[in-house]
Amino acid sequence: MAEKHFDFLFIGGGILGSAGAMCLAEKLDGSARIGVIDVDLEGEHSSTLKNAGGVRSTWRNRANIELCKYSIDFYETIREEVQFRQHGYYWMHGDKSWEEIQRNYPLYVEYGLNVELYAHDRITDILPFVDNTEGIAGVSISRKSGLLDHYSLREYYREKARKLGVEFVDGCFVTDIAVKDGSVTSVKAVLLYSKGMDGGSADRSEAIKDCLLSSDAPTGGEELSFGCGALINTAGAWAPRIAQLYGFTDSQVKPRRRQMVVINCPDVDLSGYGMVIDTSDVYFHKDAENILVGYSNIDEEYGYNIRFDFGGMDEDSPFFRYIWSPLYNRISKFERLKFLRGWAGLYAETPDRSGFLGRVPGLLNVYECCAHTGRGLMISYGAGTALADLITDGELRQELRRAGDLSRERPAGGMYEQLHL
Ligand SMILES: Cc1cc2nc3c(=O)[nH]c(=O)nc-3n(C[C@H](O)[C@H](O)[C@H](O)COP(=O)(O)OP(=O)(O)OC[C@H]3O[C@@H](n4cnc5c(N)ncnc54)[C@H](O)[C@@H]3O)c2cc1C
Repeated sequence: MAEKHFDFLFIGGGILGSAGAMCLAEKLDGSARIGVIDVDLEGEHSSTLKNAGGVRSTWRNRANIELCKYSIDFYETIREEVQFRQHGYYWMHGDKSWEEIQRNYPLYVEYGLNVELYAHDRITDILPFVDNTEGIAGVSISRKSGLLDHYSLREYYREKARKLGVEFVDGCFVTDIAVKDGSVTSVKAVLLYSKGMDGGSADRSEAIKDCLLSSDAPTGGEELSFGCGALINTAGAWAPRIAQLYGFTDSQVKPRRRQMVVINCPDVDLSGYGMVIDTSDVYFHKDAENILVGYSNIDEEYGYNIRFDFGGMDEDSPFFRYIWSPLYNRISKFERLKFLRGWAGLYAETPDRSGFLGRVPGLLNVYECCAHTGRGLMISYGAGTALADLITDGELRQELRRAGDLSRERPAGGMYEQLHL
């Protein structure tokens, strides 16, 4: 069995593991051995490669606002590298969400988020392609928000991390974690591609999918062991399974499928707009010559399901019900849209729709950064920074001080997020 030792070992190299590793390496300035292990660093089935690219800070809780604001301030400095298009979020609010954004508005002013609220009579000035304003109580524009390229951002973090000596180990499916006297001491993994498993990219993709969906270790692969001084769980929607291995039963975080489609509709010109959100919670934005559309159906069951099945244009299909109907209802030019393709990925959800960031209770050297639902990309730089602060200093910098609210010990009143997609 191969042996390696890291002072800090991240399990999961998606956007959050990569950001965390980079921020920790920057803070420690190359003085510690940092490793990131993942069954598939390319991340074909990871949430990071499935997301919509949306970035905003318009939340209810200070922790989420601070993490996103800190991240956006950073993305502005690397705009070109990560294709940050700061074209805003245009949100058409129904009564309930209009109330919510007005309630939150003073916080947005306090944090300088540059959010504008407009009453019903301004809708068509702001969104000229909307020709049915029924059910819209008001529109908010969040000017500092926008879209970025998740792949470029993840690679940006990894490249910086590698330059600072972080080691990324690919193809390792974690199967066991040893705990002694309240501390994790080592992690065992099976090397996915070692023996007879690399017959081709299709086989490899299926093997990765199989173990991620079933949690069964691949058979026949070489075993690896990683000693570690501290462990950081950044395994995304799989974080509860990793937690189980170090003896923490996570009843809060649950995986839920989320689906997106790409459509073509030259009649609707979204140039100059970032994310547009309908009262139905269907969200969409321009994506090169096409339009990316997502909808988080609330009747979706929990579970590790990444099968795409929004397809089909008949009137009973989910695509018709959840995508076409609300789009056409709001913007009649969507009548002749063409469905091109789609995919499904996982959200890691919590009952209050806020994530976890901090020390895992009951263990001395285990941290987690997971379950930021539909917020993991936008929050990533702030979350990586906060994690690095907690690990090295045991406290958070001033701009991120409320990120401490995302520990397992939630503040009284909870961390519920209403404006969640
Ligand atoms: C359809 C959709 C749309 C979204 N839209 C947005 C958006 O617009 N904006 C936004 O901010 N967020 C969005 N999100 C959410 C965002 O994508 C996630 O919050 C974020 O990607 C989570 O990153 P992560 O690094 O925690 O997880 P992941 O990217 O899933 O990474 C976890 C990694 O852990 C690895 N892993 C798991 N188990 C094991 C194991 N046993 N051994 C080894 N490795 C393991 C996996 O291979 C994976 O690479 C969206 C998500 C979806 C699904």
